[in-house]
This record gives sequence, structure tokens and C-alpha cells, in this order.
Amino acid sequence: MTQSKQPAVLRVAAPVPLRRPFDYLAPEGQNPDSLSPGVRLRVPFGKREITAILLEVALEASVDVKQLRPALTVLDDEPVLSPSIIALCKWSSEYYQHPLGEVFSAAIPKALREGRGLSETHWRLTTRGKGLPDGALSRAKSQAKALTLLQTGEQLPVTLKAAGVSSAVLRELASKDLIERCRVSTGLPSAALKEEGPPLGEEQATAVAAVKWDSFSCHLLQGVTGSGKTEVYLRLIANCLARGEQALVLIPEIGLTPQTVERFEARFQAPVAVLHSGLSDRQRFAAWQAAQSGTAGIVLGTRSAIFTPLARPGLIIVDEEHDGSYKQQDGFRYAARDVAVKRAQLEGCPVMLGSATPSLESLENARRERYQHHFLRGRQGGGELPMLQTVDLRGLQLNAGISDYLMAAIRETVEVHKRQALLFLNRRGFAPTLQCHSCGWVAGCDHCDARLTVHLRKRCLRCHHCAAQRALPPQCPDCGGTSLLTHGLGTEQTEDFLRKVLHCPVHRVDSDAMRGVDAMQSLLEVAQSEEPCVILGTQMLTKGHHFPAVQLVGVIDADALLYSADFRGEERMAQLVVQVAGRAGRESAGGRVLIQTHYPDDPLFGALRDGHFEAITSSLLQKRQSARLPPYGQLMLLRSDSRNEGDGEAFLRTVYREARQHLPNDCQLIGPLPSAMPRRAGRFRWQLWCLAASRRSAMAAARLLVERAEKLKKPRELSWFIDVDPSDVL
Ligand code: ADP
Ligand code: ZN
Ligand code: ZN
Repeated sequence: MTQSKQPAVLRVAAPVPLRRPFDYLAPEGQNPDSLSPGVRLRVPFGKREITAILLEVALEASVDVKQLRPALTVLDDEPVLSPSIIALCKWSSEYYQHPLGEVFSAAIPKALREGRGLSETHWRLTTRGKGLPDGALSRAKSQAKALTLLQTGEQLPVTLKAAGVSSAVLRELASKDLIERCRVSTGLPSAALKEEGPPLGEEQATAVAAVKWDSFSCHLLQGVTGSGKTEVYLRLIANCLARGEQALVLIPEIGLTPQTVERFEARFQAPVAVLHSGLSDRQRFAAWQAAQSGTAGIVLGTRSAIFTPLARPGLIIVDEEHDGSYKQQDGFRYAARDVAVKRAQLEGCPVMLGSATPSLESLENARRERYQHHFLRGRQGGGELPMLQTVDLRGLQLNAGISDYLMAAIRETVEVHKRQALLFLNRRGFAPTLQCHSCGWVAGCDHCDARLTVHLRKRCLRCHHCAAQRALPPQCPDCGGTSLLTHGLGTEQTEDFLRKVLHCPVHRVDSDAMRGVDAMQSLLEVAQSEEPCVILGTQMLTKGHHFPAVQLVGVIDADALLYSADFRGEERMAQLVVQVAGRAGRESAGGRVLIQTHYPDDPLFGALRDGHFEAITSSLLQKRQSARLPPYGQLMLLRSDSRNEGDGEAFLRTVYREARQHLPNDCQLIGPLPSAMPRRAGRFRWQLWCLAASRRSAMAAARLLVERAEKLKKPRELSWFIDVDPSDVL
């Protein structure tokens, strides 16, 4: 029998590391035209069976139809992903040159990738349940809790379970005719407020009023910590909920979720669906479904939450938009802030980026009027901005990195004023170098071009660039000498010193001391308690946490920040100083910031002293412009690492030769160059830079580089990847 017409083919994204879609025939007896993009299919793949997402029903196959295999089953009646999420994944795959199927994996929770079904039924209150007087079930706590949650709208069983309501409780309530099951949500989450919030200040009101609904616009909200940015977000979310739409809020850090959720829940009746990497698969699935089905009015999450589907998207907010953690550093290397802007464009909704220290990229977009720029210039409640002062370290005696001047300020803060002091030192461990006094031997990592850091608490040497760790040697491995010296400074050392000389608690905040969300939570309790103490930490401290009783902020080693091999070094340092300074005196008068440096005359410090973050950013923008670096050109790195020295350089050199003539005219290839740390974790690292004048040619160049690199026969033990808009070039 011959077929008169070519059958339509199902084009799918499969979770495999290949940069193309795959075609299948519809399953036996299924009309392909009845399928919508976004449904899941089980398909044969080699000898395996996998779950794929339908992208489109195509009229022509990309290979000979005779070779196509039929899909096995269709898993969903309704798409699990909306057309805008499918478009977002396609764009991200193209823009970041990452395999499509793996991009989709970022948008779909594990249970769905494994082929499990969505739970279709929700619970809702019956008429009787709605009429129940307040406090009627006060003796049955979990029943009362279930009813309270259901008062805000229909809920999925998984959401209720995550909130601690068991199926037994639900059955019990159902038997009393207080609740019932319903198929797929029809109701909107409640837009009711638990509390009104303060009347907005003029600048806040202007920012809120500038956000127009139902169409794409991008807003940059710039204001120091305490200037009322979060209040602007809350107001926008309230407006969004009142329109029956959902708000998606990104925050940089999982450690910030508890306090943000608390603040949101104090304002809104509707529950907040939370998505971050600390969740179990089950919790994640529950939050995802609440977002996708539309029952969650507010979806709050870290980086990867940007791919969460929303039934009725109305608003996207990216808090601390400059933060480096929005960039994923392995696998699918996307920048969630930039994906957020693209998403808002695809969804046709407003997006607001907020920060005290916006990235140069966003500032430039605002300057070109692609973004609307809103300022909040004062602090709420008239709180003074802290006074910023540099301490000239030249010739001064230092104890564990601390000058007498800073020490006196610490004492005054904790002993006289009974307030808190926050000290910033961006190096953990005791000291970054261990050296033999007899022969000069230095403890280095066997796998990296790096020194091992001395960790005295754990009595070990650790490499901060790979997993290497060994016991602290009792003597020099080269000459047997027993006099081993430490050089340089780390948080452990400064902590020991402060404990010795101060009569108040000293809390150390770094990734060694703070494992998990709980540790951060207990630190925040210390901060709220307002006991006089010193909080000493690394950049973990700079993230939006609220330290109301901090009156003094000390930056112990600003020079380490000033001189970086990365072209973003100065930008980071300025952001960091302004961010830590923002922790001071939000509620206590007369906050002070002391910056210890050997280079007090550096213009950067001058501008910071005068409180001119804008003066700094405009001078940094000028430098970038003359170097044609981002945001004036677009940067991509083709990076390689290999076990054998020389392989990476040779490989990238070949890519360079093959790609050069074919690149768009406004693109420039530079390299290959060794990385700032040429050997890391036993692998040699090289990079090829590509600078493009426009986004369009950047995308063309990225595609070309990847195509060429993929065609090359690569030595074994070499791997390569492209990093579009890299956040660091080290
Ligand atoms: P940011 O997010 O910029 O750090 P917040 O929104 O948290 O600032 O505001 C800082 C403090 O000021 C909070 O305690 C907040 O409740 C309060 N606040 C914000 N806006 C107002 C306002 N318009 N009137 C009174 N208090 C406000
Ligand atoms: Zn020695
Ligand atoms: Zn190492």
C-alpha cells in the first residue's frame, strides 16, 4: 500500500546533549494534528525510552520519513508548557548555544521528565465550608490550617501536603462536606491583603505608576538598601494579583528566601510558591504545579525559577539584578536576569529589575532608554546614609589585618554604643599561604596553579579551586624544617584575634561556618536580637540581608578587591562596597563605613566617599566603551580544558583558523589565551574570545564557533564549551 500524502511529523525536544530537535511519527492511531505543542510524549531513543516535549507538528521531516519511528504514547491531554515557555526555551537554546533538550529540562521538574502525570484535581471549599464561622475547628489544628489555606483559593493536594496537611485530614474534611475535589482550577488566587502597607513616597509612587500592564516594558529601580524597593515590589504584586494575574519574583540567594517569604506572607492572603535548589523533588514539583496551574498568585525563586510556567503571567521582578548568582556557571550557562527580560517580552508583561548597584549592562540599557530608570534617592524613615571613609594603611601596624583606627571604631561601636559591627573580609580560612621558614617551600595544590589555604579549625590545607584537601603537615616536606609560617589573612585568623581582644560575641559568616539555610537563619536571629557583637564575613554578607543594629561596617582588605584580573573587577568592588555599606545603620543613626586600603587616592574610593556611585559607573562605562567591552560589545568565550598541556591551545587555534573568515564583519576573535589560572583541578584551561558589536552578529558568531568546534576531531580528554555573556573571564 502506498501513502498518497506524507504524514505529519512530530518534532520534539529530547533530553540529550545534541543541538537539534528530533522527528517522530505520531503513535499508532493518533491524529498528529490533534496534538498541541507543549505536550509530553514517550519516544524510543536508541535502545532507551525517554520523555520528550512536542515542539511542533511539522509537514516535512528533516530526514527520510521511512527512517522515522513512531512515538509510543502521548502523556498529556493539555500542554504542560505554554507557547511562551516553549519560545523562551528555543530562544535560550539559540542564544546560549546550548542543546535544546537540556534547556527544556530546566523548565520541567524531574517527576514530569520521568513521565509522571500532573495531578489534575484540586481541593476547594464547599458552600458549607465557605460558611463556616471563624475558629469553628480551632481544636483540630491541621483541619483548621487546611481550611485557612483553601480560603485563599483552590489548592493542589501536593501544595497542601507541603504545608503539612495530610490526605487523612483532607478525607476527614471531605466527609464533613466542608471541602470537595474539583477538576483543574478555575478560580483565581485571592488578591486580598492581610495588611495595607504604608502610603508610598513620591518616588515610589512614580515607579509604581510607570508600570503599565498587559504589555512588555522593562524598568530599572535603583535605590540604596532601605530606600523602599521591596515596598514597590509589594505594591506592584498587589496590583498584579488584583488583575487576576501571577507575579514571578527572582531573588539571588536561597538564604534570602525565608525572610522574603515572611514579608510577602505578612502582606498577602495568597500562599507563595517557592522554588529553589534546596527543595526536595516533591516540594519542587508541588510549587511548579501551583505556578503552572495558576493557583499560586506569587511565585518566588532563585535563578532557575525563571523557566517556571505560569498560567496567567502578569509581572516579573528581579531583585538585586546585578548579582553574580543569576549566571549559571556550568552546563546550561544562562543569565537569569537577561532571560527574565526576554521572557517578559515573550509574555507581553512588565519586568522590574531592582538594585542599589545596578550592573553596567542595565545602566547602559537605561541610558539608551530601553529601560525606564526609576530612582529612590533617600532612605525610608529618613535614616541617614552611612558616612564612608578610607583608612590609609600605609605604614600602619596591623593586627590580623585590623588597624588601630578600625579597632577603636569597633570598640566604640560594641562597647560604648552597644551596637553591632560588621566586618568584611573576602577570604575564608586562616591564611592563604603556608611557607617553610628554612627553605622557602610553599604549599601548592598538586592539581591547580594555586596555593593551598591554611584552615586551622579543621587542621588542614585546602585548595579553594578544586576539592583537594590534606592534613596540615607537621614539618616541611622538602627539608624537614619544623618552622612553618603562614602569610596573608583569612576570616579564621581575624576571628581568633577579635575573640581575644573583645568581650562580646564574634560571629563568623563564610561558607565554612554557614552550611545550609538554617545557619543563615540563626545568624539573622542574632542580627534581629540587636545584641552588641561583631559579625565578620565574606561576600555572603553583602546579599540583601537586613542587619538593623549594625552601626559600623569595616572593609578589612579593599585592595584585594581593587586589583583583579577580571575586567569586571572594579565594577564588582564598587558594588560590593556600596552593598556592605548598605548594611549599616538602616535603623540606627550615624552609621559609619571604614574602608582599609593602601591606595586611598584611587579615584574609585574618592567617588565612593562622596557617595557618587553614578560617578563611578559613568567612568567605568567610559573605560568599557573605549575597550569595546560589554555593554558596548558582546563577549563570548569558547573555553577548553584538557588533561594534556597544549591540546586546548591547538584545538582553539584550529577553531580560530576555520571560523575567522566566516564571522560577521563586526566580530573580532582574540586568542587563544591561557586562563588566569591556567591549570585547575588537573586540567589545562584556554579560551578564545569573541567580541561582537551587536547582539545579532553575536548570535551568528556563537552559532558559527560552535558549529566549527563540533565538526573538529577533538583529542580525547579535551572538553570545550561556549560561554555567552560570561560573568567572569578568569
Ligand atoms: P529596600 O528593599 O530598598 O531595602 P524596603 O522596601 O525594605 O527597602 O524598605 C525599608 C524599610 O522602610 C522597610 O521597613 C519598609 O517597611 C519601610 N518602608 C518602605 N516604604 C515605606 C513608605 N512609603 N512609608 C513608610 N515606610 C516604608
Ligand atoms: Zn623547608
Ligand atoms: Zn586545586
